[in-house]
Amino acid sequence: MIDFGYTLTRDRQFDYDRGDLRYYRLVRSLEPSIDLCIGCGSCSATCSAAQFTNLNIRKLHTVIRRGDTTSIKAGLRKCMFCGKCQLVCPRGVNLRNLILALNRAIEQLG
Ligand code: SF4
Ligand code: SF4
Repeated sequence: MIDFGYTLTRDRQFDYDRGDLRYYRLVRSLEPSIDLCIGCGSCSATCSAAQFTNLNIRKLHTVIRRGDTTSIKAGLRKCMFCGKCQLVCPRGVNLRNLILALNRAIEQLG
């Protein structure tokens, strides 16, 4: 294949009608501030684990709200629970509790 200097990215199309919103509903019942997120990305930009891994905390809680749960387990394992993401969030999202809620959702829903 010819090297054009760039690569194609994987298709990220998502069917909202087929989303599994059980995780989102459970997480929201445990940590309602998930709905305050405006997707600014400050949490990901300051994340300690993101400096060494491909953890993207903003992506994790964004895809949950869409009903896409395919990547949450692997992502959460990389979190060091340091709380830096929560300190910089302009919307006051309680991210540490949100991460705990996500872990609990995985325990309960598999
Ligand atoms: S810093 Fe707060 S508002 Fe911004 S993406 Fe993260 S959780 Fe959402
Ligand atoms: S608590 Fe987890 S997601 Fe938040 S900054 Fe620390 S390592 Fe990143």
